[in-house]
Amino acid sequence: MSDISDKHPHVRGYGMAGSRSRTRLLQRLEALGVHDSRVLEAMARVPRHSFVDEAMTSRAYDDTALPIGYGQTISQPFVVAQMSTHVLAGATPPTRVLEIGTGCGYQAAVLAELVAEVYTVERIEALYDQARRRLADLGYRNVRPRLAMDGVLGLPNYAPFDVIIVTAGAARLPEALYEQLADGGHMIVPVGESASQRLALVRRQGDHFAVEYRDAVSFVPLIEGTR
Ligand code: SAH
Repeated sequence: MSDISDKHPHVRGYGMAGSRSRTRLLQRLEALGVHDSRVLEAMARVPRHSFVDEAMTSRAYDDTALPIGYGQTISQPFVVAQMSTHVLAGATPPTRVLEIGTGCGYQAAVLAELVAEVYTVERIEALYDQARRRLADLGYRNVRPRLAMDGVLGLPNYAPFDVIIVTAGAARLPEALYEQLADGGHMIVPVGESASQRLALVRRQGDHFAVEYRDAVSFVPLIEGTR
């Protein structure tokens, strides 16, 4: 019998066990306080096992970060849920979102379930290539992956964005991205060293930017410059 994985090599292990562990993960996220049904439904639809190495598929629905090579990780599902909830938190539903730090593309796929257009920037070419192919194979036509050595510079040609989400820890607020926010838009960015990293929310009103610090998080570092 033909299997979905025949046509989509990245879609693996679509069996009962996979769907049971996915359901368990969603229950855990709810228990941890994720209540936005849009986010829970989006995460129920995205096959996280397609975003990790084959050797790691049995752990794909554990609520942990996992290595994806090149010293990088796929974010912990709870953190993806928190970030996605913040993305939707503005006064009006966002349509254009920019993500800095594509990694394996999982957060971009979750966002693609929630908003019309997702731009995502990655500096490691091999990860960019993999993510681009994987997202295309899974049918995410509304994600536009871009390779850029310094994602902190954003995508000025495609600005403004309703939301900018940075999925790597910045040493300081990436102010270069501020002007790529639409008026009324917001940015979500982890700031600080690993032990004391917090999610910063930056809201734009005209030329005024209000910064508020929220949840403690732990992201791999955002690399600045082109070294
Ligand atoms: N969003 C991912 C997790 C990303 S891990 C997920 O869905 O799981 C952080 C990623 O940011 C890494 O792949 C790293 O290479 C990338 N990164 C770090 N600094 C960057 C920069 N300045 N520009 C673009 N990408 C960057």
